[in-house]
This record gives sequence, C-alpha cells and structure tokens, in this order.
Amino acid sequence: MKINRIDTAYYRLPPHRRILDAIQEVEFLDVIAARLYTENGEEGLGYTYTIGRGGKATKVLLDTEIVPLILGEDPLDIERLWEKMWWGLHWIGRHGLTLLCSSAIDIALWDLKAKMSGLPLYKFLGAARSKAPMYNTDCGWLNHSKNEIVEEASRCVDQGFTGIKVKVGKEQRSEDFTRVEAVRKAIGDEVKLMVDANLCWTAAESIARCKLFEDLDLFWVEEPIEADDVLGHEKLSEHTSIPIAVGENLFNRHAFKEYLTRRAASIMQPDVARVGITEWLRIADLTHSFNSSVSPHLMMELHVHLVCAVPNALFVEYVPLLDRFVQHPLRIEEGYAIPSEQPGHGIVFDEEKIGPYCLEKSSWKWNK
Ligand SMILES: [Mg+2]
Repeated sequence: MKINRIDTAYYRLPPHRRILDAIQEVEFLDVIAARLYTENGEEGLGYTYTIGRGGKATKVLLDTEIVPLILGEDPLDIERLWEKMWWGLHWIGRHGLTLLCSSAIDIALWDLKAKMSGLPLYKFLGAARSKAPMYNTDCGWLNHSKNEIVEEASRCVDQGFTGIKVKVGKEQRSEDFTRVEAVRKAIGDEVKLMVDANLCWTAAESIARCKLFEDLDLFWVEEPIEADDVLGHEKLSEHTSIPIAVGENLFNRHAFKEYLTRRAASIMQPDVARVGITEWLRIADLTHSFNSSVSPHLMMELHVHLVCAVPNALFVEYVPLLDRFVQHPLRIEEGYAIPSEQPGHGIVFDEEKIGPYCLEKSSWKWNK
C-alpha cells in the first residue's frame, strides 16, 4: 500500500479570546494541515500550529522538503518514515520548523493506521484509561485582571475542573503573588493550582519568585526559565519544593532526557504538534523510566488520546483553540476529557467554518 496523494493547507484562525502571557500574544492560531491518502482510499489527518509567526514558512517547508520524502511510501512503516524525515532534514532540523512539519505527517500516519485497524487512537496505542482529567488554563491569562481570574477560576471549579493554571510574569513580584494567592483562596485547598511563567525569569529571579509562592501549595511552576537553560532549572530545583514542569519548547527526546537525568524538572510537557506522536510516546516512556509524569501542552483534541494511552500522564490542558472549527468538539464531562470512539483520532475539520480562514491549499500526487 502506498501514499499516492498528500493535500496540505494553511489556515490562519483568530484566537477565541485575547491571550497574553509573559513573553508573547497569540495573534493568530496558524494551523498547517497534512492529509494523506492511500491508493485504497484510506485517509489520515495531521496538523501542527504556530501562534502567528512562521505559518507560511512551515507550509513551504512541508510542501518542498517533507512531502517528497513521504509520497509513494507505505504509511504503515511509521518508524522508518520517522527516521527518513529526521535524517532527511537533519542538517536544518532537530528542533523548530522541521519538527513542526514532520509532526504533522507523523500524526496523520498514526491517524491513518488506527483508522485502518478500526480502533480509536487511544485504544490502538494500548489504552491505560478511558477518560482524562483536565485542568483549565483559559481562565488565567496574563491580560486578565485579578478579579477576572478569580471569577473565571471559581466558575471552572464549579464546572468540575480539578486544576487551574494562572499565568505569571508581572513586573512586580508582589503582583504575581497577590493574583495567585487570590485564586488559591477562591478555589480552596482541594483544587490543584499551577503557575506558568513562559520562560521569562532568570534562574536567580525564579528562586526569589518561587520562595514567595511556597505556601500556596502549587502543583507545579511551569517554564520558569529559558528552555535551553537546563542548569538554571537544576539550580531552581535545589531551592524550591514546588515541582518544575517543562517541555512545550522542547522538540525531541534528547532534550527531555537532559532535564530528567539532571533532575532539573519532574513534569514533562511534550506538545504533539511539535514532536509528533512517535516521539511523544518515546518521551512518555523515557519519563516513566524516571518515575515521572507527562502532562502535555495544548492540543486537547489530540492529547486526550495520548493521555489516555499511557499510564504516567496527568492531565489534558483545556484551551479551546480549535473548538469552533471541528465537527465534533472535545467532549468534557465533570472535568474529564472523553476521547472520541471513532476510528483514528476522530478529529474532522468543519470545512464550512474553517474554510474561510484557509490562506493556501496544495495537492501533491505521487508520480509512479
Ligand atoms: Mg506553558
């Protein structure tokens, strides 16, 4: 069986609300999609995203460098094709753009293979559970006032969410502290509370900030320091009792291994749209061998399957970025995400709703 056609598309979607963190604003959700078709009429959908920059470049790289490596190949050979993409783009790759492109293809390959087996993706991968706890990030953006965060967080708890994440990184340490403290008071002691600094502090600053947070019973502090500064995280971990979470800006298992072996962080947050499903599963396994947990970044429609597939995953993160553009929005019941029982990942773009935001479309055929 061969892949005989690949359609790619670049959508520029407006965010569902204003989203600001310590280092950036989500200007757009640029989604770059790849649809694979086989000679037998099987189909798989994969996609990656950026937040307003680099979408066009991702589409160009996908079309010019990745698609030619995959056309005419057997879609069942996922490991071989992963190696082909990794080594094929090695000179310009290993992180960033090339990984976004190969991840879109890798996700489509897993979707196609699970569909062919007639199983939902989480079952195909060996289900560890049938539903995944969710925590809510959408209530705690940095542009929200303290009162807004408190009100939204309380509403989320009423809806059944068992975790709340608040963005930090205000200029004044005391302002960060007051906001997080107010949320802790509002949601009570039972609900898990996380903070996310989006890479904005130095190691020394993160030690000072975490000291202030020590008594708020935080479940984790996320990306306190620049993602490449593993030593900085190691230093912080020696000075705080708060678990450290990293991973949305890491692109392969080697980068995760560095954090795990140095005990520089204990919660790994791979993003499937940046590492693909093949590497995501390797990262989850690696993390498991360090007796640690994964808790993936965004992409809740895809991650529900992966969190349900492995035994050491904590949560699916709630941010409804794609909700308005898919035919079957993620089912959430009493704070749990329920994976689709359709074969594959079950995600179908709603062409009527997403079509108007398509900037570019291409179709590539295999020339035997
Ligand atoms: Mg984050």
